[in-house]
Amino acid sequence: MSERNTKAGWNFDNSYACLPDLFFSRQDPSPVRAPRLVVLNEALAVSLGLNVEALKSRESVEIFAGNRVPEDSAPLAQAYAGHQFGHFTKLGDGRALLLGEQITPEDERFDIQLKGSGRTPYSRGGDGRAALGPMLREYIISEAMHALGIPTTRSLAVAATGESIVRETELPGAVLTRVAASHLRVGTFQYAANWGTVEDVRTLADYTVKRHYPEVEADENRYLALLREVIRRQASLIARWQLVGFIHGVMNTDNMAISGETIDYGPCAFMDVFDPSTVFSSIDVHGRYAYGNQPRIAAWNLARFAEALLPLLHDDEEQAIRLAEEALSDFARLYHGHWLAGMRAKLGLANEEPEDESLIASLLGLMQKARADYTNTFRALTVGKPEDTELNGDPEFAEWHKRWQARLGRQEEPQASSQQLMRSSNPAVIPRNHRVEEALEAATIHEDYSVMHRLLDVLSKPYAYKPDQDEYAAPPAPSPIPYRTFCGT
Ligand code: AMP
Ligand code: MG
Repeated sequence: MSERNTKAGWNFDNSYACLPDLFFSRQDPSPVRAPRLVVLNEALAVSLGLNVEALKSRESVEIFAGNRVPEDSAPLAQAYAGHQFGHFTKLGDGRALLLGEQITPEDERFDIQLKGSGRTPYSRGGDGRAALGPMLREYIISEAMHALGIPTTRSLAVAATGESIVRETELPGAVLTRVAASHLRVGTFQYAANWGTVEDVRTLADYTVKRHYPEVEADENRYLALLREVIRRQASLIARWQLVGFIHGVMNTDNMAISGETIDYGPCAFMDVFDPSTVFSSIDVHGRYAYGNQPRIAAWNLARFAEALLPLLHDDEEQAIRLAEEALSDFARLYHGHWLAGMRAKLGLANEEPEDESLIASLLGLMQKARADYTNTFRALTVGKPEDTELNGDPEFAEWHKRWQARLGRQEEPQASSQQLMRSSNPAVIPRNHRVEEALEAATIHEDYSVMHRLLDVLSKPYAYKPDQDEYAAPPAPSPIPYRTFCGT
């Protein structure tokens, strides 16, 4: 091992590479012309046991760009399948490579993946590359999600390649280093179920249990327990998305992580105006992945996961289906429980009353009618300035506000503690689309990363309620052209 490498602190294990060959193809990254490190997540690097100064060295930059790999890395492209907008397809990492699993000083295990590192056997017609803008966008949004307290893959670095890639126009290329609990997807199980044997599915399930759900290892039916746990984590995750107004945009089964982390930041965006039908993705013409559909789609994806596990659940197929259906039927209840608890917290309610659901529904209905900004409505209620919302002047809202105040008055908690609860549940800032675009434009067109760094700094403390964050809270100016996002760019 070279000295510099050791100094960077890479400490790889390669447990995924021990799965049967079916699950991956060994592949080295394709070198690029002029690697340059444009963003490094220093705090994340430290938590991974990496040395920030060493990560800025020439050698490390070459690693982030795919021109060399760390010692003990065994680069591979993962095989998976997926239902894309409902249609089942064989997929796999077409432009990503798993370098290995970093074992941290706390003995945690994280996938270190390059995204945009060149073609693989799963690239089909694609070039295996990624553009700088979308990689910086994934960096910003995934780090914002982390700061919001939502389970997510994270971003360690972005390296510019010094090469152009061809999309609708020529764009600067980049490689993102992504950090994840793992990249096991619902689609990984679908792949095993369709192109492997039952033993392959069992091997994958055992691997998953060991890696993410060791608590079910001794369970009488560990595969059913695995299904139940994955359902639980997804119910909690999707509720968290809904509570902050996050729209994933492409909830295909290959983009649902078994670990319960948010994964694959393509056409995602945060909703401004509260409207359950909100869609940003240019390709989602039927609104399949609209904000209000996300819980239903998650349940649908989990049913695909259960299908892949069926032969492991019970020897008798009918019994297996019955067990799967029972487990799946829990999702709606679990999701609703998390969502309701989260909504109560957003309104400062520390206890439960049967009327709470109607109180929440009334507010959301008024917000939708007034096209009120989702984040800023809760922000204004948090800081006690209901007059700052688009709802101001609506007599129904005045009624609602009285009802809410009366409800708050019926709980024992002092006002200060419900305010505290609201502050920690309602972000003052989210990655507003126009702010993200502004940062990306400065970086990709003018090579000015200061705008992005300022934005990242603000987004790292979403619950701070600091006056200097105010300008980042402003919703976009009204525009006749709806905001659109794109995938695979
Ligand atoms: P996504 O929409 O990012 O979830 O990607 C769906 C599939 O397309 C995955 O198998 C990706 O690896 C693949 N893919 C996306 N972009 C490219 C590209 N530029 N080259 C090769 N494969 C790609
Ligand atoms: Mg994907």
